[in-house]
Amino acid sequence: MSLGPVQHPESVVAVYSGGIDSTVMLYAMRERGIDIRGAISFDYGQKHRKEIDVAAKVCEQLAIEHQIADLRAISGLFGHSGLVDRESVVPEGHYEEESMKSTVVPNRNMILISLATAWAITKDAQGVAYAAHSGDHAIYPDCRESFAAALDQAIQQCDWTSVRLYRPFVESSKSEILAEGARLKAPLGEAWSCYKGGDLHCGRCGTCIERREAFFLAGVEDPTVYQADAPELETLVNAGWRLTT
Ligand SMILES: [Zn+2]
Repeated sequence: MSLGPVQHPESVVAVYSGGIDSTVMLYAMRERGIDIRGAISFDYGQKHRKEIDVAAKVCEQLAIEHQIADLRAISGLFGHSGLVDRESVVPEGHYEEESMKSTVVPNRNMILISLATAWAITKDAQGVAYAAHSGDHAIYPDCRESFAAALDQAIQQCDWTSVRLYRPFVESSKSEILAEGARLKAPLGEAWSCYKGGDLHCGRCGTCIERREAFFLAGVEDPTVYQADAPELETLVNAGWRLTT
């Protein structure tokens, strides 16, 4: 699997959510000998705090310094997102559906990458790595290459030290990332996707369906333990990965 479009940096600080994409990114960078000087997770009041616990655990296993940036005090700035507003309901169904747009935290990646850039400068790292992939592009403008290229330009000029934005998966699909993760023996079953905040993956929200679809398309057995009432894989396939509930 090629990692592009930016040349590999020698050292990075990684934006690390604890999800599949960023977990595989850590493993892929380690395999390529990139010095991961730190991984940073963000608590912006999301319902799915379990991903932060997963991130801490994986970093401990990989002996990577982990920081959790607590943004809860300013989560009011993020508006009525289904991820941060506890009064709203996380929509079910496939990402492509209009309803999933309510899961967007406005300008999320610029906020996260900006803070990670500060830490990268502090750690004297050459780059900030984040795991946006091609499947994110339709719904999240701040996962698109045009945005990443602009931010790459900006963070090269924000300090006397030039930091680059490394986005190794920006041209990869979720299933390609997953296949890479299986090859690297990344803990795919532990990496967290669900937006609903339960102890187990619900198996029916947008990210759970995207996750299940990616395992299916990659031909990788899904090790995830889903809630007992999660729809059967066959039901999802027959429904074209869209739920009507
Ligand atoms: Zn879910």
